[in-house]
Amino acid sequence: MIDYESARKIMVQNQIIARGVRDKHVISAMESVPRHLFVEESLQDEAYDDNPLPIGEGQTISQPFMVAIMTELLDLKDTDRVLEIGTGSGYQAAVLSRLCAWVYSVERVPALAERAKKTLVTCGYDNLSFKIGDGSQGWPEEAPFDGIIVTAGSPRIPGVLVDQLAEDGKLVIPVGNRFSQTLKRVTKERNGNKVQSFTGCRFVDLIGEHGWSDSDRYW
Ligand code: SAH
Repeated sequence: MIDYESARKIMVQNQIIARGVRDKHVISAMESVPRHLFVEESLQDEAYDDNPLPIGEGQTISQPFMVAIMTELLDLKDTDRVLEIGTGSGYQAAVLSRLCAWVYSVERVPALAERAKKTLVTCGYDNLSFKIGDGSQGWPEEAPFDGIIVTAGSPRIPGVLVDQLAEDGKLVIPVGNRFSQTLKRVTKERNGNKVQSFTGCRFVDLIGEHGWSDSDRYW
């Protein structure tokens, strides 16, 4: 067994700070959330490595740097309410929960949602709500959101998600084909929306009404 706290410090230094993440709050959230508790026991010693890891059901927990950069792009305030699409392991939700007032997280695979919820409760994070269903449609009952983060790859920017942003709110989403995407950020401004592109990335599919259809996976 390795010393997880030291491994986490080294991860933050070598993978997060060294690659240009500057937001102090993001850095301290990444230093505090015990990533190894969000993967199965046999993978815990790899939890601080520089890559995604399998979490079952064909899904993955994102690479630490990707979690940090996406979180930084949301530019969160501690009063913000944030929607996450793709709860997965719950790790990204945990990081967000350290930086804003409330996290709303949607997951389409019930088994993952249940496990993530358990992990987050065990860790003592209590400013989150969960929903099982198609997050590509957002969570209209709880809108508007100051930030929306999609942690699965989408063929397009779903307009329905932009509609659920508050003014000055930001949507961070990987957009592209099923094998590679570009991280995009939409900022909702009074006179229209600003779209910016950032790093290339590779996520599992966003499957749903405004993402890929389930059958696309078997092409
Ligand atoms: N944020 C996660 C990463 C999970 S991978 C983490 O920190 O571990 C992406 C997740 O998105 C998968 O669990 C997948 O089941 C889920 N997903 C894909 N399409 C979805 C949709 N339309 N609505 C909700 N969740 C979806």
